Formats: sequence, C-alpha cells, structure tokens
Amino acid sequence: MAVRSAGAEELPGSLRYNRPMATLPAAAGTFVIPGDEFEPAYLALHRSGELRRRATEAVERLRHCLVCPRDCGVDRLAGKTAACHTGRYAQVSSYFPHFGEEECLRGWCGSGTIFFSMCNLRCVFCQNYEISQAKRGQETSPERLAAMMLELQGRGCHNINFVTPEHVVPEIIEALAIAAELGLRLPVVYNTSAYDSMDSLRLLDGIVDIYMPDFKFWDSALSLQYVKARDYPEAARRNVVEMHRQTGVLKCDEQGMARRGVLVRHLVMPGAIAGTESIMRFLAEELSPDTYVNVMAQYYPAGRVSDSQFVEINRRLTGAEYSAAVEAARRAGLWRIEDHRPLRVR
Ligand code: SF4
Repeated sequence: MAVRSAGAEELPGSLRYNRPMATLPAAAGTFVIPGDEFEPAYLALHRSGELRRRATEAVERLRHCLVCPRDCGVDRLAGKTAACHTGRYAQVSSYFPHFGEEECLRGWCGSGTIFFSMCNLRCVFCQNYEISQAKRGQETSPERLAAMMLELQGRGCHNINFVTPEHVVPEIIEALAIAAELGLRLPVVYNTSAYDSMDSLRLLDGIVDIYMPDFKFWDSALSLQYVKARDYPEAARRNVVEMHRQTGVLKCDEQGMARRGVLVRHLVMPGAIAGTESIMRFLAEELSPDTYVNVMAQYYPAGRVSDSQFVEINRRLTGAEYSAAVEAARRAGLWRIEDHRPLRVR
C-alpha cells in the first residue's frame, strides 16, 4: 500500500491553503507546462473512442487475473478472489480532498484522493493496515466511482489521486471512461507502491498524467522479509523506467501544480534497509537527474512491527539516518528533492 500522507496530516479548514502558493522551484524553466496548454492525457483517448476500448480490454483481463505481478490467474469476473481479496469491483475505503499530499498536488483546494481497500503487498510495517488488509471498504460500481471523481472535481480539487490502485487498474479505466464522458477534466495521479504489472502500465499509457511510485526496497531478500514480495525490486525498477518513458520528468503549471510526469516517493527506513543509496543512483542514472523525489521521513513502527517481531525496525528514524538519505540523493546527482529536515526524529 502506498504511504497515505506525504507530509502533514490533513489540516483543519482554517489552516488550509486558501490562495495560490508561491511558485515552487519545480515550476521553473523547462519544467513548466503553461496552464492554458495543458489537457489531461485521457481526454484525447476519450475523444477517439480508445478509452472505452481500453476499458473493455482491461475488464476482460479480470477473467484470468494477471493485473499485478502476483499473477494469480483467478477469474475475478466470476467474483473469485486471491492475494488482493478483490473480485469484480473495486472497494473504496474513503475519498476526500486531501491536504497532506505534496504541495504540488494538494495546492490550496486539496488533492482529490480516492483510497482503495486491500493491497497486493504485505508490508509488515503498513501504516494503513485497516485499509490494506482488513476489508473495510465499500464495493463500488464503475458509475459510483465516476461519480466520486466528479464530486471531487466539483469541490475544487486539483487532481484525481488514486491511492493503492495496483489491483484495480481495470476498474479505474472503466470508471474514467464514464467520468470523462460526464465532464471530468482533472489530471489523474496514479499513486502506487510500484508493484504493478507491465500489462497494466501499457493499458494506462496515455491515461495517467502523473505517476507517483513509492520505490520501497532495492534488495530482493529484504523485500521478501518486509513486503512479502521477492520480485518487488525488479518490478519497481522496470516500472519506474516505463512510467518515465510514458510521461517524463515532473512538470508543473505556473502556479506550481503538478501536471505531468513522474514524482517518486521513497520512505527512508531505520538501519538503511530500504537501500536508499542504490535507489537514488538508479533514478539519476536510468531516469534522469531531473527526477523529482520526495525523500519521506515519516516512518514509524506500525502493522506487525513490535517488541517481539521485526524489532530491528521497531523505532523511528534518527535525524542522522534521514540526513544520510538526503545526502545520498544529492550525491547521486538528483536535485529536485523534497527534503523534510529538520525532523521530529531522535
Ligand atoms: S490483482 Fe489481485 S488477483 Fe490479480 S494478480 Fe494481483 S493480487 Fe492476484
């Protein structure tokens, strides 16, 4: 599951941004898409009829589900479920204007976030266990999902932000086709753990405006131990390259709002077990030194982490650990870095 909040918790109304923010560094020079030149990617596919065709193809793929790298092969159209505990329809746990995401997503009216229940990973430190594993969501028809998007647009949100979407890509495309028909005009954010299948990413090509992968681990043995997927690093490496191929580096409009490209998140872990240095080098060398990276500091023990299990990560980060992660990013040549120092860490 993607980490729920990138920075501050949801703010009370009086503390929300109520005016356009100052232009962010990310909105300088070649990283700008003028607002009047921007159109969400999926609208061209909608006009040509390709979005409907993709939706039909994507839903058909639920018949023998290979939607994510788990490759379960179950017939979700017949309501069968497997590792993600999700059948024909997506389950939504909540949707609302989110003021805890990156500034270039939340702006002054919030990111129109839709949280899907269940997950194809099993992070032992999951901070959203109730959503990712406990089946607390509402089964949602494509029409209802489209209505949620339109409601968020009506509330002034800057984008539609699909959180933990890896196992419900067909349902998302199906609903987007309906929403586009009914007037959706916001950019789409795909807020993923990066444990996606290449088939899903190909279906999303030309649909997603902003890819936001959370690149969690570099080492396959540690991935097996902490997110229960030995092939996670291989999938994440392949997928961020594909996301970059589709959308390029992150570009914003003149007000600093994200419009297109890849925004990578990376949660720094205690003891440097995430492999931050290798991940940052990979991003700089295989994507671009201009890759936008949020180096996240908000790890805290949660999920199955306790005094008796996974004790080595049963603590918060130290300031030194977080600083080392930011420095690793800089040493790799990255410069569009969200750096959250000073921290409330030990
Ligand atoms: S989306 Fe769900 S059923 Fe399909 S392969 Fe992934 S975990 Fe298995």
